[in-house]
Amino acid sequence: MSIKIYVATNNEHKRAEIENILKGYSVHLIGDLLDKHGEKVQDIPETQETFHGNAQLKSEYYAKIVPLKGDEYILADDSGLMVDALDGEPGVHSKRFAELHNDDTDQDDVNNRKLLQTMAHMDAHAPAGIQRGCKYVCAISISGNDGEVASFSGEVAGEVGLVPQGSGGFGYDPIFMLPGGRSMAEIPSDHKNTISHRYKALQQAKMFLDSL
Ligand code: IMP
Repeated sequence: MSIKIYVATNNEHKRAEIENILKGYSVHLIGDLLDKHGEKVQDIPETQETFHGNAQLKSEYYAKIVPLKGDEYILADDSGLMVDALDGEPGVHSKRFAELHNDDTDQDDVNNRKLLQTMAHMDAHAPAGIQRGCKYVCAISISGNDGEVASFSGEVAGEVGLVPQGSGGFGYDPIFMLPGGRSMAEIPSDHKNTISHRYKALQQAKMFLDSL
């Protein structure tokens, strides 16, 4: 069967990264499928309390509005950073952890600053210092034409750094410290793509697709 995967995103970079990991599968933007049915890509609010819930919300939404053929699948993801000392926050709120006060500010930058400030404040009040353990989590949901949903997840552990380091990656990468002392923004992207939460979740999704 020649499976076609439609990723629930407008982001070509994300599509290309997924195609690179799901080697051998043809991976398209959801817009390509929606266009054929006169539908438009929606900004689906991530209203669920878990990464899995949000990923499933997106894959099921599109699987319901277009009639999928037997070899067509919708893939959606949700991901974020969970910090131990913050009981798993920012979690599903990772994208907009900090409030943006003007359009010139970079959301990733204000998120990182807010997280560092929050941790410094806690540290100052903890006699033995706070633990800085954290992890990136990625959930993937795949919906097919039978209404069934398959879910997968991947994690990578690290520590919240004391100051931003490196210019690669995106999001929390400059303050996500890996064992060995480099931040996720300091390692080459092809290295990140072999250790990341997204890579691990997609490897499982690939095993599922291989079994169809
Ligand atoms: P989304 O799953 O693409 O909506 O990502 C949610 C948010 O989680 C992003 O805006 C980032 O703040 C954070 N995030 C997810 N994955 C990564 C990553 O690989 N590096 C850094 N930040 C990430």
